[in-house]
Amino acid sequence: MPKIDFKERYSRQIRLPSVGEQGQKKLSRSRVFIIGMGGLGSPVALYLAAAGVGHIVIADFDRVDESNLQRQIIHSQSDIGELKAASAARSLKAINPLVDVETLDYSLDYDDFLTHAKTVDLLIDCTDNFPTRFQLNRASLETRTPFVSGAAIRWAGQVTAFDPRQDDSPCYQCLYHDTEVESTTCAMEGVIAPLVGVIGTVQAMEAVNILLGSGQLAGVLWLFDAQFMEWQQIRLPKNPNCTACRVT
Ligand SMILES: [Zn+2]
Repeated sequence: MPKIDFKERYSRQIRLPSVGEQGQKKLSRSRVFIIGMGGLGSPVALYLAAAGVGHIVIADFDRVDESNLQRQIIHSQSDIGELKAASAARSLKAINPLVDVETLDYSLDYDDFLTHAKTVDLLIDCTDNFPTRFQLNRASLETRTPFVSGAAIRWAGQVTAFDPRQDDSPCYQCLYHDTEVESTTCAMEGVIAPLVGVIGTVQAMEAVNILLGSGQLAGVLWLFDAQFMEWQQIRLPKNPNCTACRVT
């Protein structure tokens, strides 16, 4: 491994009074679990690795397809046909050899999410399907692990966070009931490339905030219309009848 000067490498973050050397060390000791190494997972993982988050678990069972490369910037032309988890891990190690990268390249079930949620500080949803998000939400609630969620399709994106450590924080199922899910995907509907970068980068920013102890998006949903460049912020109340997070 090349010799890396911790203070020099992270000097522009350490310089920030609200980060400092303490905050940077906190990031180095942090562990995150990113589910999905596609359009959203790419900027999330690249920024968290570059910013010095010490341990990153990445999950994706898919392989890199030519149609992914328009927006999934963690993968390159030469990675076509490779497992996304392996291809992404290579990019992360290239950008920051100090980061430990753990890859899960198989389809995960609820028990897998639970097992890994217990070992990390933060879950980051970068998938494109509702069943996985509901499972992640349950694992987040069960282990009281904060959960950053993003979605992007066509020209529209959204991002929010859920923090079960806060009593008034809603959960994913307060927002979407698990019986009313529509399963549209980018493969069916299309997606404009930089949109996933915008949403993924906001997810990475909120992840850093949460890891430093100052998360901002629990209970707030940000909606972005990329065609008209409009952001909208909506308060997300906790649903008192939510079957997932209701205290009985
Ligand atoms: Zn709920």
